[in-house]
Amino acid sequence: MITFQGKSVYGAIASGKIALLTRTRPEVKRDKTGNPPKELARFAAAKDKAILELRALYEKALKEVGEANAKIFEIHIMMAEDEDFNESITDMILSQEVNAEYAVSITSDNFARMFTAMEDSYMQARAADIRDVSGRIIACLTDNHSGVTAFRDPVIICADDLAPSETVSLDKSKVLAFVTAHGSYNSHTAILARNMSIPAIIGVGEEFLSVIKNGDTAIADGFTGQFILHPDKKTLQSAKEKQAVEAEKKELLQKLKGKENITKDGTRVHIYANIGSVDDIGAVLLSDADGIGLFRSEFLYMGSKDYPSEEEQCKVYSRVLESMPSGRVIIRTLDIGADKQVDYFRMEKEENPALGLRAVRLCLSRPEIFKTQLRALYRASAFGKLGIMFPMITSPSELSACLALCEQAKRELTLAGKKYAPDVEIGIMIETPAAAIISDRLAPMVDFFSIGTNDLTQYTLACDRQNPRLEKFCDTHHEAVLRLIRAATENAHRAGAWVGICGELAADLSLTETFLRMGIDELSVSPSFVLKLRERVRGLDLSAYPQ
Ligand code: PEP
Ligand code: MG
Repeated sequence: MITFQGKSVYGAIASGKIALLTRTRPEVKRDKTGNPPKELARFAAAKDKAILELRALYEKALKEVGEANAKIFEIHIMMAEDEDFNESITDMILSQEVNAEYAVSITSDNFARMFTAMEDSYMQARAADIRDVSGRIIACLTDNHSGVTAFRDPVIICADDLAPSETVSLDKSKVLAFVTAHGSYNSHTAILARNMSIPAIIGVGEEFLSVIKNGDTAIADGFTGQFILHPDKKTLQSAKEKQAVEAEKKELLQKLKGKENITKDGTRVHIYANIGSVDDIGAVLLSDADGIGLFRSEFLYMGSKDYPSEEEQCKVYSRVLESMPSGRVIIRTLDIGADKQVDYFRMEKEENPALGLRAVRLCLSRPEIFKTQLRALYRASAFGKLGIMFPMITSPSELSACLALCEQAKRELTLAGKKYAPDVEIGIMIETPAAAIISDRLAPMVDFFSIGTNDLTQYTLACDRQNPRLEKFCDTHHEAVLRLIRAATENAHRAGAWVGICGELAADLSLTETFLRMGIDELSVSPSFVLKLRERVRGLDLSAYPQ
C-alpha cells in the first residue's frame, strides 16, 4: 500500500481500478516542405475544423456544467483566433518553409512559456489551455483524433495533468475520480471537477505516474487529499464504508428539504448560501437555502475584460434577486486586491497586498467605480429583498463615506427617474479585528453584520491565509477569534442589528452550537453544505448544558 498526498479539489471518495490517461497525439517532426502556400492552406483548414470542434464542446459543457464553466471553450476559440498566435505560425511557415504542425507546435511552446513566466497565477494556468488548443489543431492537421482514451468501465483517471477539453470530453458515468500529478486549484480542470461533483485530487507529485499501472486498485479520498495505491483489505473496506456513509448521508439530507432550521429547544437560525456568480443560483435553489448570505460581486469584475457597466451589473444583480423571491440576497460590494487582482484596475504592486489598498479602501479611492456599482445595486433592489454589505471596514469614518456614496447613488437614480426599493438593508463585514473591537460604534450605523472569519482569522492571528505553511499556526478556533465574534454579536444585538457569519467557519459543524449560543442569527455556507448544517442545527438542544 502506498499513499500519495495531494490537494483535494472536491470532497468525495471513490475506490476502483485505475486508468492511466494516455494521449495518442503524434510526435511533431520538423519538415522543410518548400511549399508555404500549401502549408498555410492546411493550417487554415485545420484551425477551422478545431474551432468547429470547440464549438461542439462548448455546447456539451453548457448542458453538463453550465455557462460559466463552458466559457473555457470560448476562450480556446479566442486563443485559436488570436492574432499574435496566428501571425507567429504564418511567419514561421513563410520564413522557414516548415510544415504547419511544426509551426503550431513551436508557437504553442513559446506561448505556453510566456504564460508560465507571468506572475499572475490565473495567467500561468492558461499555459495548459494554449497547449490544449494547439494540440487540437495539430490533431486536425494529422487527422489523429484519438486524444483521450474512452473507458469501458468506471475508473479512477490518473494523469500528469488534465486539459479542460479532456475533462469535459470524458463520459462522466465512466469517471470515478480524477487524480493528477500537477495542476493548480485555480485551473479550469479543478473548477470543472468541482462542478461535476467528481472526487478529485491534484498535485500528488510526478512520482505516482511511474508507480501506477492500468488496472491497479486505488482509493481517491477527496476528503483527505490522499491517493492510496494498492490499498490493503482493511483500508479498502473502510473506504467503501466511508463511501456508503456519504451516499446514505446525502440521501438522508434530501429529506431535510423544506424543513426549518430550528434546534430542539426552538432556537431558529437562517441558513443562507454563498455564491460567486449568477450561475451558482441553480445550486442554491437545489440546496434549499433561505437566502444568499454572500454574493462575492468581485467575481463579476474578475470575469470581465473591462469595468462592467451599470447596465451589465444591474442585469446580473436583478437576476439573482428575482431567483430568490422570498429570501434575502446580500451582495457584497467589490472586494478586490490581495489575492483577487483585476488587470484593468491597474493597481500598483504592493509589498503586503493583504494589508494594502483592497476592498472598500480601493472603492473609496475610486468613488466613480464604486458609485457605478451602488447605482446598479439600488436599481436591482426593485427585484427582491436586497442587502448591501461593505468589506474590510475598519472605522466609522470609512463606513460613513460608504453611506454617503449610497445616498449620492440614490439621488442620482431619483434624478434619472430610476426606481429602487426603499428598504435596502445595509451591512458591513466584520473581518478586521478593528471592526470587531469597535463594533459598538459601528453597529448603530447598520442593519446587520456579517462576520468574515477567513480574513478575521488571518488578521487576528497574523497568518497569511494564502500561505499553506502557516496552516498549523492558524487555529481557526483560537479564543481570540471567538471572543471577537462574540463581542461583535453582542454589540450588534444591543443596537438592534442582526448578525451572520459568511466565512468558512460558518460551515464548521463543531462550532455551530457555540455560534448559536452566542446568538448568531444567520450562517452562510456553500450551497452543498446547507443541508448538512440544517441537520446539525436540528440535532442541537441549547437548553441542555453546553458540551
Ligand atoms: C471572509 O473573509 O471570511 C470572507 C467571507 O470574504 P473572502 O473570503 O471573500 O475574503
Ligand atoms: Mg474577506
